Amino acid sequence: MVTGCSYEVIGDDNRMRKKLIVANWKMNMLRSEAKDYTISLVERLENLPLKVEVVLVPAYTLLDVVYGVIKDTNIQLGAQNVSWQVSGAFTGEISPYMLTDVGCRWAIIGHSERRRILGETDDMVRKKIKSSLDAGLIPIVCVGETLEEREKGKAIEIIREQIETSLRDIKLDDPANLVIAYEPVWAIGTGENPKPNEVEYFYEVIQKIIGTIFGEIASQMRILYGGSVTKEFYITPPDIDGALVGGASLDADSFTKMVQLAGG
Ligand code: PEP
Repeated sequence: MVTGCSYEVIGDDNRMRKKLIVANWKMNMLRSEAKDYTISLVERLENLPLKVEVVLVPAYTLLDVVYGVIKDTNIQLGAQNVSWQVSGAFTGEISPYMLTDVGCRWAIIGHSERRRILGETDDMVRKKIKSSLDAGLIPIVCVGETLEEREKGKAIEIIREQIETSLRDIKLDDPANLVIAYEPVWAIGTGENPKPNEVEYFYEVIQKIIGTIFGEIASQMRILYGGSVTKEFYITPPDIDGALVGGASLDADSFTKMVQLAGG
């Protein structure tokens, strides 16, 4: 099992959970672009005291080239999806052990684009979380309501159901080994943002839900915000543990700025 280094005391504020900034590149970049981008990001970040954890999450075909650049740095690697199967006749799938083999430490699971476009269910998400943990990958589990659900006042019900179903029977010894990303679907790729106090409210809701599942250690688990995060709009209520960044992570300058805003 991977153990995280996420409980260092940082700065003067005795903050126990290290901030985490995750770059979800989605289905973008070819190998040469990915290499150039990563080299330039490493150059930008190497002069910063990296007090935050930074994870790059490129498409599968780019994982090895990105890992080649970051392997001796503090920057970590993640995958955008993972199979719940370990090996065998599952054409087109990538197992968690294949991901750790290529240098991954993290896997995004249940992203709304996979739920909405590819029909991924909470039950599939649960199996992927289980197989990832077994292989030593840290799942970043995405939850969030659609605009329609929000307008009908069902956001909390939906988030509760997503979390309770996908974490059913999941055992967690170390709170660093699972991260929740609150990503309101209506904010992803739209330029729309919730107000910071709304993010704080959902943060508290999610913390209560995971508290009923994992007990005391839930207060040390990290909850990220994702949805149109840019360098102009970075959610900074003190409790938010970082961001899952899509579009804006494709620009090394913007992404560096976000790492700095998070305390990098
Ligand atoms: C995402 O892909 O998880 C995301 C939040 O995308 P964007 O930042 O582009 O809204």
